[in-house]
Amino acid sequence: MKALIDELIEVTGESYVSTDSAVLVGYCTDWTGHRGGLALAVVRPADAREVAAVLSICVNHEVAVIPQGGNTGLVLGAVPDLHASTPVIIISMVRLNTIGSVDELSGQVTAGAGATLADVQRAARAVGWEYAVDIAARDSATIGGTVATNAGGIHVIAYGMTRAQVTGIEAALPLTSPTLIDHLGGLAKDNTGYDLASALTGSEGTLAIITAVRVKLHRPMDRTSLALIGTDSYDTALRLISSAVRPGIRVRAAELMDRFGLEITLGLIGQMSPLSQEHELVLLLEIADGGDASGFVADELSERDTVIAVDAANQEQLWSLRERHTEAYSAFCIQRGLAAPHKLDVSIPLSRLADCAQLLNDRVRAHPGVVVFGMFGHAGDGNLHVQVCGPAANDESVAELILHTVAECGGSVSAEHGIGRLKAKWLPLSRSPHEIAVMRAIKAAWDPNGVMNPGVLFSE
Ligand SMILES: Cc1cc2nc3c(=O)[nH]c(=O)nc-3n(C[C@H](O)[C@H](O)[C@H](O)COP(=O)(O)OP(=O)(O)OC[C@H]3O[C@@H](n4cnc5c(N)ncnc54)[C@H](O)[C@@H]3O)c2cc1C
Repeated sequence: MKALIDELIEVTGESYVSTDSAVLVGYCTDWTGHRGGLALAVVRPADAREVAAVLSICVNHEVAVIPQGGNTGLVLGAVPDLHASTPVIIISMVRLNTIGSVDELSGQVTAGAGATLADVQRAARAVGWEYAVDIAARDSATIGGTVATNAGGIHVIAYGMTRAQVTGIEAALPLTSPTLIDHLGGLAKDNTGYDLASALTGSEGTLAIITAVRVKLHRPMDRTSLALIGTDSYDTALRLISSAVRPGIRVRAAELMDRFGLEITLGLIGQMSPLSQEHELVLLLEIADGGDASGFVADELSERDTVIAVDAANQEQLWSLRERHTEAYSAFCIQRGLAAPHKLDVSIPLSRLADCAQLLNDRVRAHPGVVVFGMFGHAGDGNLHVQVCGPAANDESVAELILHTVAECGGSVSAEHGIGRLKAKWLPLSRSPHEIAVMRAIKAAWDPNGVMNPGVLFSE
């Protein structure tokens, strides 16, 4: 392995290759605290050319690689498999963080894969544009990581997922000599065969390493209002969301929280509930009202327990109730001496959301060892984040139950976090054998030497 490390150092310089286990642990442990197996080394190239060189060295040494961005992924895609016997190199993309200037004519910007989502959002906002993808992990998640996972987030209901924003890509291919593909032109119309940017979007580091992306921006919407609304059922919440869509009014976000999740999040941030009563479900609805949402408010909200925030500071406070849910569940369970929560991101057809949520509630609560169960998520997209504490971290029975229930409801085992290593064995619940065979053939075409993130997406 010395020859491999020496060649890597030759490309990036000694400061950017680490084999020190104290350093490696940080790169091999994910956001939830899950500790993966130890990598041979972490390499932090400076630019696309170095990424391509590092990748080809790994191919020639037949060593697997894991591309890593902000390491905020929640499906074990960016950390080594705890049980893998083959050596692996982590290629960290955080030094590729340059952001170009916004192209005012096309409303697009090109960013290095390692730029954080928050930095891309800030760069767009500074010149009067908005990048539509937004997630609570924005300060650490990278634009390359969000493309590699096809991240969703809070504005999918208005703008679609990351795939809908990507207009171009640059990537290093896993071949024996350094190879980059560059398709960053951002043409609005470009019907020249297979869309490789789209293929890499959601590929979770299994095909190539994304080194830069070009994304579409939007002009910010007019004044927005944020309403926190007490409701009693999923059906009522969905009806409210659909009745908010009126001429001139656009729903920008529609998030649901259950009673328990809201309670522990309020506990975490040391706040009282802004609502006057307790409710089984609470809906956070952001609407761009073009100056007047009074019709919707009068028709739907006047009789409900509701708080409306119009100014930025109040909106931020209401948003923190939703955005700190993931953290609140982790803190609550760990403080009680339970294993870190099982966090399962799933999506369900809207027409079946209420029934399926009830089914999940009944089945999971009755499952042996379950102490804590709750759900929150992007309700307008049928996307629930199911949280369960009690069963040990390596007990897969509760995930098995939840994912089979979701499949029974016609849903997807992954709404937005991806498959990673965590859900690879359940991919067949959402994809047919023919689809998986095509996906494997695509992988073999991009990654003929099989070095890209083995164990992610397909169980080995
Ligand atoms: C508090 C919190 C809230 C979250 N909320 C959301 C949410 O609302 N919606 C959502 O979709 N996700 C959410 N996530 C999950 C996570 O933030 C996203 O999956 C994000 O897109 C990961 O970006 P990253 O840079 O951290 O990628 P990493 O975690 O580093 O990597 C994720 C995957 O992408 C691959 N990868 C990373 N960079 C590259 C690259 N340059 N080229 C090729 N492959 C690459 C990795 O190999 C891995 O498989 C949340 C996470 C946290 C901790």
